[in-house]
Amino acid sequence: MTTIFTGRIRPLSPEVDADIDEEVEAMAVVDGRILEVGTASALAAAHPDAETVALDGWIMPGLIEPHGHPAFSAILLSDLVVDLRPVTIPDAEGVLATLRAAIASASGPVYANGWDALLQRGLPEPDRALLDELGGDVPLTIIQNSGHAVYFNSAAARAAGLDRDTPDPVGASFGRTADGELSGVALEAAAVEQVVAPMLAAAQQRLPELLVTHLRDLAARGLTTVSDLSWNADLNPLVQALIAKDALPVRLRWYETSHPGGTAAPRGGGDAMFRQTGVKTWSDGSPWVGNIATSFPYLDTQATRDLGLEPHHVGHANYTAAQLREIAEPYAAGGWQLACHTHGDLAIDSTLDVYEQLIERYGLADHRFRLEHCGAMTPAQFARAAALGVTVSLFVDHITYWGEVLVDDLFGAEHGGAWADAGAAFAAGHRATFHNDGWVTPNEPFRNMAVAQTRTSRGGFRMPGGTPVTRAQALGAHTTHAAWQLFSEHEVGALAPGLFADFIVVDRDPLTVTAEELAHTQVRATYLAGERVV
Ligand SMILES: [Zn+2]
Repeated sequence: MTTIFTGRIRPLSPEVDADIDEEVEAMAVVDGRILEVGTASALAAAHPDAETVALDGWIMPGLIEPHGHPAFSAILLSDLVVDLRPVTIPDAEGVLATLRAAIASASGPVYANGWDALLQRGLPEPDRALLDELGGDVPLTIIQNSGHAVYFNSAAARAAGLDRDTPDPVGASFGRTADGELSGVALEAAAVEQVVAPMLAAAQQRLPELLVTHLRDLAARGLTTVSDLSWNADLNPLVQALIAKDALPVRLRWYETSHPGGTAAPRGGGDAMFRQTGVKTWSDGSPWVGNIATSFPYLDTQATRDLGLEPHHVGHANYTAAQLREIAEPYAAGGWQLACHTHGDLAIDSTLDVYEQLIERYGLADHRFRLEHCGAMTPAQFARAAALGVTVSLFVDHITYWGEVLVDDLFGAEHGGAWADAGAAFAAGHRATFHNDGWVTPNEPFRNMAVAQTRTSRGGFRMPGGTPVTRAQALGAHTTHAAWQLFSEHEVGALAPGLFADFIVVDRDPLTVTAEELAHTQVRATYLAGERVV
């Protein structure tokens, strides 16, 4: 059965640097894939038995989130977790009032997410004493907005089985007081995981419902392919069951979480709806908690002092280059794409060193090794990465929310002003992509495209450095480039013959509106393989 969709279609192009100005009238779809695009009359003549669906609006390829965390986000953004995010609660008073209310009405442990002392100014130091005072006997766990730190009280430590004898995992740590007791702070994934384990266990039963709800929300925001950079393979049967019921609203691409001493799963398996793409590693941490590895110090400001950083603090990587290589090597040897979290310029240098060694050692050609976030990445580093065949995914939405913080409070105009320099990435020849990192900022791919063009925060602050991108580059970052980065360019990313009919209907022309208008694009409908999902 052939379906012809008509409307104002912006097919974009699967080819790099192609002209994307083309507008077509119609698209013929068979068995979920695009057969041809062209004029409505030509397609109707070629397919006289086809059903025609007239769509009201602009039609463009479904968007792709190249670095998400939908499984964890499904829990964090659900009613199981108190929402403290700065996008929901702008100030410290509101955060503390919300926590007190949640604890007062709690019938069990309280989990909260979104603490951000840089945007919610005046928050007290989130140590065990504060959380004991707030929570009392109620186990209280608060996740820092970046996910790189978690704060917990004594009752939550007991519930998670943590005490002064709990060792620091490799690449992560628990804060400790002078007498060796846990201070109520866990830093980085391996330690954070131990603190939130009871929350994840409590969410297990509701996960099928929570995951579908979250993925449908992402589909409504225009995403048709979503990656998960910290996937737990225990969830595979749940996703397989959803696929069997035709109830998975987006395609999933997942990255296994690396572990020291881990071994690679065999490659292969999965299909166009759901498969493993690569393996995630971490080099450094979050700019918002002081643990990114930079060649330059943090500024000495009220904000950095409030974070508990010493004057002119310099952050360090979670791993040495030798440790990172030891973790990454078995996965690279197994043929997997690596995706490494890196923000600071020193972390980027050492990750590129490791990548270069692995590429050479194993003679890797089309590896597409990734660098994630790339906050302080320099033009020279973008050029080096491109020469190695390494690809980059930038967290440009940092500018929207933390633009002023990056320049005035943390790093100054030179280093903060050029943050997430997507223009430099494209100038170096990258097929760069953008992302929202799961729950860390709202999933607004059109806002990402806009802010990469304007480099202007939500407060109207124009970043003093970095290079704006073009509209074609911005659109590519959530379509064709992202498809390529996820080894899925033969399936999605553009509306071209042979690719899946994954498309969205939007209320404005994504090519010609201003960047400000693009940010507010409304998605009217989302189609996956020619079937409407929302
Ligand atoms: Zn992430």
